Amino acid sequence: MEIADSPMGERQRRYRAMYRERVTGWYNGYLHAILLFAPGTLAISIYIASLANIKWWEWLVVPVVFLGAQWVEYFIHRFLAHRPSRSPFWRLIYVRHTLMHHQFFTAEESRFATHLDWRVTLFPPFTLVVFTLLLVPPSLLAGWFLSSNVGWLIIATGTGNYLFYELLHFCCHIDDNLFVRHCPIVNTARRHHTAHHEMSIMMERNMGIVFPFWDWAYGTSDLDRGLLGHLFNGYSTRYIKKDMRRTVRTPYLLTRHRPHSEPQHAQSDTKA
Ligand SMILES: [Zn+2]
Ligand SMILES: [Zn+2]
Repeated sequence: MEIADSPMGERQRRYRAMYRERVTGWYNGYLHAILLFAPGTLAISIYIASLANIKWWEWLVVPVVFLGAQWVEYFIHRFLAHRPSRSPFWRLIYVRHTLMHHQFFTAEESRFATHLDWRVTLFPPFTLVVFTLLLVPPSLLAGWFLSSNVGWLIIATGTGNYLFYELLHFCCHIDDNLFVRHCPIVNTARRHHTAHHEMSIMMERNMGIVFPFWDWAYGTSDLDRGLLGHLFNGYSTRYIKKDMRRTVRTPYLLTRHRPHSEPQHAQSDTKA
């Protein structure tokens, strides 16, 4: 099923139809979301319940880990998810993101039609396990060398950052509503990310996906304003840069070694 009243072009419409047709099998978006958010929220509540007699300086680890995780997200998105790599793993990320996610959602139409489309945005549920395993070593080290509270805060913040990403990216692709339009941070993420889905700037602008801090720091944002303005910009288009380079640098196609059985592209006119 497709959105009835949509401004999307014919090419995007065909890609979405082909994606849905080829991705056969049983899928339920609500179950996918529950499998992702329920264990994630439970894990965070256990980590937080383990905190005891926390000192003021121990809280400092929260913004440090959050911005550090955001930097990793920014780096992966900018340099790996939008560039075909020789490594099969990173090439798979490129295929799923640039060749699939960015063709399914464009700036003209960036909404899900039904919950069956959520799979184009939400990561597989096992991703939470992978992130948890990655967070365990630094948390244990910090627990031994600094304090157990710091260890728990590292794993709680790292997990929280992942759920934050999933929730906000999801909010970027649902239909407009009062919550996503007026909730601070969420409305900023929606405009920021929808602009990133614009084909002519997607390879180099708004690479922070749902949080614009590192785009502001590295100058890769499409906005011309300060940090607070970036964080609380909301839907405003007033500060969009007027001299931005708009390229025709569309995705490189992978004609060999396709690592995934799902459709990658609808047309051959996306050649680099
Ligand atoms: Zn997206
Ligand atoms: Zn992207």
